[in-house]
Amino acid sequence: MVKKNDYESLWEEALLSIKSEVGETSFARWFSLKFSGDNDKGITLKVPSRFHADQVTKRYPTLIEKKLREFFGTDMAVRFEVDENPADSENTAPKAALTAKPAEQNAQKERAIPFNELYTFDNYIIGDNNEFAVSASMAVSRNPGTAGDYNPLFIYGGVGLGKTHLLQAIGNYIHTTTSNKIVYTTASDFITEFTEAVKDRDTKAFKRKYRKADLLLIDDIHVLENKERTLEELFDIFGALYDAKKQMVFTCDRPVTALKQIPERLKSRLGSGLQVDIQMPKYETRFAILLKKMEEYKLEINNDEKEKIIGLICKNISSNVRDMVGALNRLIGFTRLTNKKLTLEVAQEQLKDIFTSPKQSNISVDMIIQVIAFHFGIPVAEIKGKSRKANVVYPRQLAMYIARTNTEFSTTEIGQIFGGRDHSTVIYAVEKIETRKNENAQEEDRIQQIINKIRAEIVK
Ligand code: ADP
Ligand code: MG
Repeated sequence: MVKKNDYESLWEEALLSIKSEVGETSFARWFSLKFSGDNDKGITLKVPSRFHADQVTKRYPTLIEKKLREFFGTDMAVRFEVDENPADSENTAPKAALTAKPAEQNAQKERAIPFNELYTFDNYIIGDNNEFAVSASMAVSRNPGTAGDYNPLFIYGGVGLGKTHLLQAIGNYIHTTTSNKIVYTTASDFITEFTEAVKDRDTKAFKRKYRKADLLLIDDIHVLENKERTLEELFDIFGALYDAKKQMVFTCDRPVTALKQIPERLKSRLGSGLQVDIQMPKYETRFAILLKKMEEYKLEINNDEKEKIIGLICKNISSNVRDMVGALNRLIGFTRLTNKKLTLEVAQEQLKDIFTSPKQSNISVDMIIQVIAFHFGIPVAEIKGKSRKANVVYPRQLAMYIARTNTEFSTTEIGQIFGGRDHSTVIYAVEKIETRKNENAQEEDRIQQIINKIRAEIVK
Protein backbone atom coordinates (compact mmCIF):
# COMPACT_ATOMS: atom_id res chain seq x y z
CA MET A 1 0.00 0.00 0.00
CA VAL A 2 1.04 3.54 -0.64
CA LYS A 3 1.66 5.54 2.47
CA LYS A 4 0.81 9.18 2.62
CA ASN A 5 4.33 9.87 3.77
CA ASP A 6 5.67 8.67 0.47
CA TYR A 7 3.63 11.20 -1.44
CA GLU A 8 4.81 13.93 0.80
CA SER A 9 8.47 13.06 0.48
CA LEU A 10 8.17 12.62 -3.28
CA TRP A 11 6.63 16.06 -3.48
CA GLU A 12 9.53 17.46 -1.52
CA GLU A 13 11.97 15.90 -3.95
CA ALA A 14 9.99 17.32 -6.83
CA LEU A 15 10.23 20.73 -5.17
CA LEU A 16 14.02 20.48 -4.99
CA SER A 17 14.10 19.77 -8.67
CA ILE A 18 11.74 22.68 -9.36
CA LYS A 19 14.08 24.88 -7.37
CA SER A 20 17.07 24.07 -9.49
CA GLU A 21 15.02 24.63 -12.63
CA VAL A 22 13.40 27.99 -11.86
CA GLY A 23 16.15 29.53 -9.75
CA GLU A 24 16.21 30.63 -6.16
CA THR A 25 14.30 33.91 -6.45
CA SER A 26 11.34 32.62 -8.41
CA PHE A 27 11.27 29.52 -6.28
CA ALA A 28 11.08 31.46 -3.04
CA ARG A 29 8.35 33.63 -4.48
CA TRP A 30 6.05 31.02 -5.99
CA PHE A 31 6.80 27.59 -4.68
CA SER A 32 6.19 27.62 -0.97
CA LEU A 33 3.49 25.08 -1.76
CA LYS A 34 2.98 22.81 1.18
CA PHE A 35 1.75 19.29 0.71
CA SER A 36 -1.72 18.99 2.14
CA GLY A 37 -3.16 15.63 1.11
CA ASP A 38 -3.80 13.20 -1.67
CA ASN A 39 -6.32 10.87 -3.21
CA ASP A 40 -6.15 8.33 -6.06
CA LYS A 41 -6.05 10.98 -8.72
CA GLY A 42 -3.77 13.60 -7.39
CA ILE A 43 -2.37 15.71 -4.64
CA THR A 44 -3.50 18.86 -2.87
CA LEU A 45 -1.14 21.72 -2.20
CA LYS A 46 -1.65 24.67 0.14
CA VAL A 47 -1.39 28.15 -1.33
CA PRO A 48 -1.47 31.51 0.47
CA SER A 49 -4.30 32.80 -1.75
CA ARG A 50 -6.36 32.05 -4.83
CA PHE A 51 -4.42 34.78 -6.59
CA HIS A 52 -1.20 32.98 -5.80
CA ALA A 53 -2.56 29.74 -7.26
CA ASP A 54 -3.67 31.54 -10.43
CA GLN A 55 -0.28 33.16 -10.81
CA VAL A 56 1.61 29.92 -10.38
CA THR A 57 -0.59 28.27 -12.99
CA LYS A 58 -0.18 31.17 -15.37
CA ARG A 59 3.56 31.51 -14.98
CA TYR A 60 4.37 27.83 -14.92
CA PRO A 61 1.52 26.20 -16.83
CA THR A 62 3.01 22.72 -17.06
CA LEU A 63 5.93 22.66 -14.66
CA ILE A 64 4.23 21.11 -11.64
CA GLU A 65 2.51 18.40 -13.68
CA LYS A 66 5.76 17.65 -15.45
CA LYS A 67 7.65 17.28 -12.18
CA LEU A 68 4.89 15.15 -10.66
CA ARG A 69 5.05 12.83 -13.64
CA GLU A 70 8.82 12.68 -13.27
CA PHE A 71 8.81 11.93 -9.56
CA PHE A 72 5.55 10.02 -9.10
CA GLY A 73 6.02 8.03 -12.27
CA THR A 74 2.48 8.65 -13.40
CA ASP A 75 0.17 11.51 -14.29
CA MET A 76 -1.09 13.25 -11.17
CA ALA A 77 -3.60 16.07 -10.92
CA VAL A 78 -2.87 19.06 -8.70
CA ARG A 79 -5.47 20.81 -6.62
CA PHE A 80 -4.77 24.03 -4.78
CA GLU A 81 -6.32 24.77 -1.44
CA VAL A 82 -6.14 28.19 0.16
CA ASP A 83 -4.30 28.02 3.44
CA GLU A 84 -6.79 29.39 5.99
CA ASN A 85 -4.27 29.30 8.76
CA PRO A 86 -1.06 30.67 7.38
CA ALA A 87 0.20 31.76 10.79
CA ASP A 88 0.83 28.15 11.89
CA SER A 89 2.01 27.03 8.56
CA GLU A 90 5.31 26.91 6.81
CA ASN A 91 4.48 30.12 4.99
CA THR A 92 5.89 32.14 7.82
CA ALA A 93 8.97 29.99 8.16
CA PRO A 94 12.04 30.74 6.06
CA LYS A 95 11.04 29.62 2.61
CA ALA A 96 14.08 27.52 1.92
CA ALA A 97 13.52 25.43 5.03
CA LEU A 98 10.51 23.88 3.35
CA THR A 99 12.60 21.77 1.07
CA ALA A 100 16.03 21.96 2.57
CA LYS A 101 17.70 18.84 3.85
CA PRO A 102 19.04 19.03 7.43
CA ALA A 103 22.62 19.82 6.41
CA GLU A 104 21.38 22.51 4.11
CA GLN A 105 19.14 23.95 6.82
CA ASN A 106 22.08 24.63 9.08
CA ALA A 107 23.94 26.32 6.30
CA GLN A 108 20.87 28.41 5.55
CA LYS A 109 21.13 29.94 8.98
CA GLU A 110 24.62 31.19 8.30
CA ARG A 111 24.55 32.09 4.68
CA ALA A 112 22.11 31.13 2.01
CA ILE A 113 23.68 28.87 -0.61
CA PRO A 114 21.55 28.72 -3.65
CA PHE A 115 23.30 25.58 -4.87
CA ASN A 116 21.99 22.09 -5.17
CA GLU A 117 24.27 20.17 -2.81
CA LEU A 118 24.44 17.27 -5.25
CA TYR A 119 25.76 19.45 -8.08
CA THR A 120 29.44 18.98 -7.27
CA PHE A 121 32.53 18.04 -9.26
CA ASP A 122 32.57 14.71 -7.41
CA ASN A 123 29.19 13.89 -8.84
CA TYR A 124 30.08 15.06 -12.33
CA ILE A 125 31.17 12.39 -14.76
CA ILE A 126 33.90 13.39 -17.16
CA GLY A 127 33.80 12.19 -20.77
CA ASP A 128 35.05 13.27 -24.20
CA ASN A 129 32.01 15.48 -24.47
CA ASN A 130 32.83 17.73 -21.53
CA GLU A 131 36.50 17.13 -20.68
CA PHE A 132 37.67 20.58 -21.64
CA ALA A 133 34.73 22.31 -19.95
CA VAL A 134 35.38 20.42 -16.70
CA SER A 135 39.11 21.10 -16.61
CA ALA A 136 38.53 24.79 -17.28
CA SER A 137 35.86 24.88 -14.54
CA MET A 138 38.22 23.21 -12.09
CA ALA A 139 41.05 25.60 -12.95
CA VAL A 140 38.74 28.54 -12.36
CA SER A 141 37.54 27.04 -9.08
CA ARG A 142 41.08 26.64 -7.77
CA ASN A 143 42.26 30.08 -8.84
CA PRO A 144 39.23 32.28 -9.39
CA GLY A 145 39.95 35.50 -11.22
CA THR A 146 43.69 35.08 -11.35
CA ALA A 147 44.04 33.41 -14.72
CA GLY A 148 43.04 36.36 -16.89
CA ASP A 149 42.70 34.11 -19.93
CA TYR A 150 39.89 32.24 -18.21
CA ASN A 151 37.86 35.30 -17.38
CA PRO A 152 35.07 35.10 -18.16
CA LEU A 153 34.60 31.38 -18.51
CA PHE A 154 31.79 30.85 -20.99
CA ILE A 155 30.23 27.37 -20.96
CA TYR A 156 27.82 26.53 -23.73
CA GLY A 157 25.83 23.54 -24.93
CA GLY A 158 22.32 22.25 -25.62
CA VAL A 159 19.48 21.69 -23.18
CA GLY A 160 20.01 19.14 -20.43
CA LEU A 161 23.69 18.46 -21.08
CA GLY A 162 25.00 19.47 -17.64
CA LYS A 163 25.69 23.22 -17.79
CA THR A 164 23.82 24.14 -14.60
CA HIS A 165 25.39 21.23 -12.75
CA LEU A 166 28.88 22.37 -13.76
CA LEU A 167 28.20 26.01 -12.93
CA GLN A 168 26.93 25.06 -9.48
CA ALA A 169 29.90 22.73 -8.97
CA ILE A 170 32.14 25.79 -9.36
CA GLY A 171 29.94 27.62 -6.85
CA ASN A 172 29.89 24.73 -4.38
CA TYR A 173 33.66 24.32 -4.61
CA ILE A 174 34.50 27.97 -4.09
CA HIS A 175 31.91 28.20 -1.32
CA THR A 176 33.54 25.39 0.64
CA THR A 177 37.15 26.39 0.03
CA THR A 178 37.08 30.18 0.34
CA SER A 179 35.11 32.95 1.96
CA ASN A 180 34.61 34.65 -1.39
CA LYS A 181 31.39 36.51 -1.89
CA ILE A 182 29.56 34.45 -4.46
CA VAL A 183 26.66 35.79 -6.46
CA TYR A 184 24.79 33.13 -8.39
CA THR A 185 21.71 33.82 -10.43
CA THR A 186 19.85 32.71 -13.50
CA ALA A 187 19.52 35.21 -16.30
CA SER A 188 15.77 35.25 -15.84
CA ASP A 189 16.09 36.03 -12.12
CA PHE A 190 18.60 38.69 -13.02
CA ILE A 191 16.07 40.33 -15.33
CA THR A 192 13.31 40.19 -12.71
CA GLU A 193 15.57 41.57 -10.02
CA PHE A 194 16.72 44.44 -12.19
CA THR A 195 13.24 45.26 -13.46
CA GLU A 196 11.90 45.41 -9.94
CA ALA A 197 14.77 47.61 -8.81
CA VAL A 198 13.96 50.00 -11.64
CA LYS A 199 10.27 49.93 -10.77
CA ASP A 200 11.05 50.76 -7.15
CA ARG A 201 13.39 53.49 -8.37
CA ASP A 202 16.18 51.92 -6.40
CA THR A 203 18.88 50.32 -8.47
CA LYS A 204 21.65 51.18 -5.99
CA ALA A 205 21.30 48.04 -3.89
CA PHE A 206 21.16 45.97 -7.05
CA LYS A 207 24.33 47.52 -8.45
CA ARG A 208 26.11 47.20 -5.11
CA LYS A 209 25.27 43.53 -4.76
CA TYR A 210 26.68 42.61 -8.15
CA ARG A 211 29.70 44.87 -8.03
CA LYS A 212 30.76 43.51 -4.67
CA ALA A 213 30.85 39.94 -5.89
CA ASP A 214 34.15 38.06 -5.87
CA LEU A 215 32.60 35.43 -8.07
CA LEU A 216 29.67 36.00 -10.40
CA LEU A 217 27.86 33.02 -11.86
CA ILE A 218 24.99 33.58 -14.30
CA ASP A 219 23.10 30.63 -15.76
CA ASP A 220 21.39 30.64 -19.18
CA ILE A 221 22.66 33.98 -20.39
CA HIS A 222 20.90 33.56 -23.77
CA VAL A 223 17.68 34.54 -22.00
CA LEU A 224 19.03 38.11 -22.01
CA GLU A 225 18.74 38.41 -25.80
CA ASN A 226 16.67 41.45 -26.55
CA LYS A 227 16.61 42.73 -22.96
CA GLU A 228 18.21 46.05 -23.73
CA ARG A 229 18.28 47.76 -20.36
CA THR A 230 19.32 44.68 -18.43
CA LEU A 231 22.13 44.08 -20.94
CA GLU A 232 23.30 47.63 -20.44
CA GLU A 233 23.48 46.96 -16.72
CA LEU A 234 25.30 43.67 -17.20
CA PHE A 235 27.85 45.42 -19.41
CA ASP A 236 28.66 47.84 -16.58
CA ILE A 237 28.86 45.09 -13.96
CA PHE A 238 31.10 43.09 -16.28
CA GLY A 239 33.48 46.00 -16.69
CA ALA A 240 33.72 46.65 -12.97
CA LEU A 241 34.31 43.01 -12.06
CA TYR A 242 36.74 42.41 -14.88
CA ASP A 243 38.88 45.38 -13.89
CA ALA A 244 38.90 44.16 -10.29
CA LYS A 245 40.02 40.68 -11.50
CA LYS A 246 36.89 39.02 -10.18
CA GLN A 247 35.97 35.72 -11.78
CA MET A 248 32.84 35.45 -13.91
CA VAL A 249 31.27 32.32 -15.33
CA PHE A 250 28.34 32.25 -17.72
CA THR A 251 26.39 29.43 -19.28
CA CYS A 252 24.54 29.66 -22.55
CA ASP A 253 22.74 27.39 -24.98
CA ARG A 254 24.92 28.53 -27.91
CA PRO A 255 28.34 30.04 -28.63
CA VAL A 256 28.78 33.77 -28.13
CA THR A 257 28.81 34.49 -31.86
CA ALA A 258 25.38 32.90 -32.29
CA LEU A 259 23.75 35.24 -29.76
CA LYS A 260 21.38 37.68 -31.37
CA GLN A 261 20.19 41.08 -30.21
CA ILE A 262 23.00 41.50 -27.76
CA PRO A 263 25.22 44.57 -28.31
CA GLU A 264 28.47 43.74 -30.12
CA ARG A 265 30.58 45.32 -27.40
CA LEU A 266 29.07 43.01 -24.76
CA LYS A 267 29.43 40.00 -27.06
CA SER A 268 33.07 40.75 -27.57
CA ARG A 269 33.59 40.92 -23.80
CA LEU A 270 31.67 37.69 -23.20
CA GLY A 271 33.86 35.97 -25.75
CA SER A 272 37.11 37.52 -24.55
CA GLY A 273 37.96 34.82 -21.98
CA LEU A 274 37.66 31.11 -22.53
CA GLN A 275 34.75 29.47 -24.34
CA VAL A 276 34.16 25.78 -23.73
CA ASP A 277 31.37 23.56 -24.98
CA ILE A 278 29.52 20.51 -23.71
CA GLN A 279 28.21 17.94 -26.17
CA MET A 280 25.92 14.96 -25.82
CA PRO A 281 27.95 12.24 -24.04
CA LYS A 282 28.51 8.95 -25.78
CA TYR A 283 27.13 5.66 -24.51
CA GLU A 284 29.84 4.82 -21.93
CA THR A 285 29.67 8.26 -20.36
CA ARG A 286 25.89 8.19 -20.26
CA PHE A 287 26.10 4.82 -18.55
CA ALA A 288 28.54 6.16 -15.95
CA ILE A 289 26.29 9.16 -15.27
CA LEU A 290 23.28 6.97 -14.50
CA LEU A 291 25.37 4.66 -12.31
CA LYS A 292 26.40 7.72 -10.32
CA LYS A 293 22.78 8.89 -10.01
CA MET A 294 21.73 5.45 -8.79
CA GLU A 295 24.41 5.66 -6.11
CA GLU A 296 23.11 9.06 -5.03
CA TYR A 297 19.63 7.59 -4.58
CA LYS A 298 21.02 4.69 -2.55
CA LEU A 299 18.72 2.22 -4.26
CA GLU A 300 18.70 -1.37 -3.14
CA ILE A 301 19.07 -3.29 -6.32
CA ASN A 302 21.44 -6.00 -7.48
CA ASN A 303 24.23 -5.10 -9.87
CA ASP A 304 23.07 -7.23 -12.73
CA GLU A 305 19.57 -5.74 -12.76
CA LYS A 306 20.99 -2.27 -12.24
CA GLU A 307 23.20 -2.50 -15.30
CA LYS A 308 20.40 -3.88 -17.45
CA ILE A 309 18.12 -1.01 -16.49
CA ILE A 310 20.78 1.62 -17.08
CA GLY A 311 21.60 0.04 -20.43
CA LEU A 312 17.93 0.16 -21.36
CA ILE A 313 17.71 3.88 -20.62
CA CYS A 314 21.01 4.73 -22.34
CA LYS A 315 20.02 2.85 -25.48
CA ASN A 316 16.58 4.38 -25.76
CA ILE A 317 17.08 7.97 -24.74
CA SER A 318 19.23 9.99 -27.05
CA SER A 319 17.84 13.49 -26.56
CA ASN A 320 19.89 14.67 -23.56
CA VAL A 321 21.12 13.75 -20.10
CA ARG A 322 18.27 15.47 -18.31
CA ASP A 323 15.75 13.20 -20.02
CA MET A 324 17.78 10.16 -18.98
CA VAL A 325 17.86 11.33 -15.38
CA GLY A 326 14.14 12.07 -15.65
CA ALA A 327 13.47 8.49 -16.75
CA LEU A 328 15.45 7.18 -13.79
CA ASN A 329 13.56 9.47 -11.41
CA ARG A 330 10.34 8.16 -12.80
CA LEU A 331 11.35 4.58 -12.04
CA ILE A 332 12.38 5.51 -8.54
CA GLY A 333 9.16 7.39 -7.95
CA PHE A 334 7.17 4.44 -9.19
CA THR A 335 8.94 1.84 -7.06
CA ARG A 336 8.68 4.01 -3.95
CA LEU A 337 4.98 4.56 -4.45
CA THR A 338 4.09 0.99 -5.20
CA ASN A 339 6.75 -0.72 -3.10
CA LYS A 340 7.49 -2.86 -6.14
CA LYS A 341 10.97 -4.15 -6.79
CA LEU A 342 12.74 -2.36 -9.58
CA THR A 343 13.31 -4.89 -12.34
CA LEU A 344 14.03 -4.70 -16.05
CA GLU A 345 10.39 -5.60 -16.80
CA VAL A 346 9.07 -2.85 -14.57
CA ALA A 347 11.45 -0.40 -16.23
CA GLN A 348 10.38 -1.43 -19.73
CA GLU A 349 6.73 -1.08 -18.85
CA GLN A 350 7.10 2.24 -17.04
CA LEU A 351 9.28 3.90 -19.64
CA LYS A 352 7.75 2.67 -22.87
CA ASP A 353 5.89 5.88 -23.59
CA ILE A 354 9.03 7.94 -23.06
CA PHE A 355 11.02 5.68 -25.35
CA THR A 356 8.49 5.96 -28.16
CA SER A 357 7.87 9.70 -27.85
CA PRO A 358 8.68 11.86 -30.89
CA LYS A 359 11.55 13.39 -28.98
CA GLN A 360 13.42 10.10 -28.91
CA SER A 361 12.59 9.15 -32.47
CA ASN A 362 15.78 10.66 -33.90
CA ILE A 363 13.91 11.95 -36.91
CA SER A 364 15.66 14.98 -38.30
CA VAL A 365 13.96 17.67 -40.33
CA ASP A 366 16.39 17.11 -43.19
CA MET A 367 15.45 13.45 -43.25
CA ILE A 368 11.78 14.44 -43.55
CA ILE A 369 12.57 16.80 -46.40
CA GLN A 370 14.55 14.13 -48.22
CA VAL A 371 11.79 11.55 -48.00
CA ILE A 372 9.17 14.07 -49.10
CA ALA A 373 11.36 15.25 -51.99
CA PHE A 374 11.81 11.69 -53.17
CA HIS A 375 8.13 10.84 -52.69
CA PHE A 376 6.96 13.80 -54.79
CA GLY A 377 9.87 13.75 -57.23
CA ILE A 378 11.05 17.30 -56.48
CA PRO A 379 14.62 18.37 -55.67
CA VAL A 380 15.36 19.12 -52.00
CA ALA A 381 16.58 22.58 -53.01
CA GLU A 382 13.13 23.42 -54.37
CA ILE A 383 11.40 22.36 -51.18
CA LYS A 384 13.68 24.65 -49.21
CA GLY A 385 13.59 27.29 -51.94
CA LYS A 386 11.27 30.14 -52.78
CA SER A 387 9.05 28.54 -55.45
CA ARG A 388 5.34 29.18 -55.06
CA LYS A 389 4.23 26.59 -57.60
CA ALA A 390 1.40 24.45 -56.25
CA ASN A 391 3.31 21.21 -56.89
CA VAL A 392 6.06 22.49 -54.58
CA VAL A 393 4.02 24.39 -52.01
CA TYR A 394 1.96 21.39 -50.91
CA PRO A 395 4.92 19.02 -50.35
CA ARG A 396 6.73 21.84 -48.53
CA GLN A 397 3.77 22.42 -46.22
CA LEU A 398 3.41 18.73 -45.64
CA ALA A 399 7.09 18.45 -44.73
CA MET A 400 6.71 21.33 -42.27
CA TYR A 401 3.66 19.68 -40.76
CA ILE A 402 5.40 16.34 -40.31
CA ALA A 403 8.45 18.08 -38.85
CA ARG A 404 6.30 19.91 -36.36
CA THR A 405 4.28 16.88 -35.27
CA ASN A 406 7.06 14.29 -35.24
CA THR A 407 10.05 16.11 -33.81
CA GLU A 408 10.71 18.40 -30.89
CA PHE A 409 11.89 21.27 -33.10
CA SER A 410 10.17 24.60 -32.57
CA THR A 411 8.39 26.41 -35.40
CA THR A 412 11.28 28.91 -35.41
CA GLU A 413 13.87 26.17 -35.83
CA ILE A 414 11.85 24.47 -38.54
CA GLY A 415 11.44 27.77 -40.40
CA GLN A 416 15.22 28.17 -40.29
CA ILE A 417 15.82 24.77 -41.85
CA PHE A 418 13.29 25.52 -44.60
CA GLY A 419 15.43 28.23 -46.15
CA GLY A 420 15.23 30.72 -43.28
CA ARG A 421 11.47 31.17 -43.28
CA ASP A 422 9.56 32.83 -40.48
CA HIS A 423 7.93 30.71 -37.76
CA SER A 424 4.52 32.08 -38.80
CA THR A 425 4.93 30.34 -42.16
CA VAL A 426 5.37 27.04 -40.35
CA ILE A 427 2.31 27.67 -38.19
CA TYR A 428 0.32 28.48 -41.31
CA ALA A 429 1.48 25.27 -43.02
CA VAL A 430 0.49 23.18 -40.00
CA GLU A 431 -2.99 24.71 -39.96
CA LYS A 432 -3.37 24.23 -43.69
CA ILE A 433 -2.55 20.51 -43.52
CA GLU A 434 -4.76 20.04 -40.44
CA THR A 435 -7.67 21.49 -42.42
CA ARG A 436 -6.99 19.23 -45.37
CA LYS A 437 -6.87 16.24 -43.05
CA ASN A 438 -10.23 17.16 -41.59
CA GLU A 439 -11.82 17.64 -44.97
CA ASN A 440 -10.35 14.63 -46.67
CA ALA A 441 -10.21 11.18 -45.10
CA GLN A 442 -7.56 9.94 -47.53
CA GLU A 443 -5.19 12.68 -46.60
CA GLU A 444 -4.64 11.18 -43.18
CA ASP A 445 -3.67 7.79 -44.66
CA ARG A 446 -1.34 9.43 -47.12
CA ILE A 447 0.43 11.33 -44.35
CA GLN A 448 0.74 8.22 -42.23
CA GLN A 449 2.34 6.34 -45.11
CA ILE A 450 4.92 9.05 -45.55
CA ILE A 451 5.67 9.05 -41.83
CA ASN A 452 6.16 5.30 -41.97
CA LYS A 453 8.63 5.77 -44.81
CA ILE A 454 10.55 8.28 -42.75
CA ARG A 455 10.68 5.94 -39.79
CA ALA A 456 11.90 3.15 -42.04
CA GLU A 457 14.78 5.44 -43.02
CA ILE A 458 15.97 5.54 -39.42
CA VAL A 459 16.00 1.79 -39.02
CA LYS A 460 18.23 1.41 -42.10
P1 ADP B 1 21.59 22.02 -18.48
O1 ADP B 1 21.78 23.10 -17.47
O2 ADP B 1 22.71 21.95 -19.48
O3 ADP B 1 20.26 22.07 -19.16
P2 ADP B 1 21.69 20.30 -16.17
O4 ADP B 1 22.96 20.77 -15.56
O5 ADP B 1 20.41 20.75 -15.55
O6 ADP B 1 21.66 20.61 -17.74
O7 ADP B 1 21.75 18.70 -16.21
C1 ADP B 1 20.59 17.89 -16.33
C2 ADP B 1 20.76 16.65 -15.46
O8 ADP B 1 21.80 15.84 -15.96
C3 ADP B 1 21.14 16.97 -14.02
O9 ADP B 1 20.49 16.03 -13.20
C4 ADP B 1 22.65 16.74 -14.00
O10 ADP B 1 23.09 16.38 -12.70
C5 ADP B 1 22.79 15.61 -14.98
N1 ADP B 1 24.09 15.58 -15.66
C6 ADP B 1 24.41 16.11 -16.87
N2 ADP B 1 25.68 15.88 -17.19
C7 ADP B 1 26.20 15.16 -16.17
C8 ADP B 1 27.50 14.58 -15.92
N3 ADP B 1 28.51 14.71 -16.79
N4 ADP B 1 27.67 13.89 -14.77
C9 ADP B 1 26.64 13.75 -13.90
N5 ADP B 1 25.41 14.27 -14.07
C10 ADP B 1 25.18 14.96 -15.19
MG1 MG C 1 20.44 24.62 -16.97
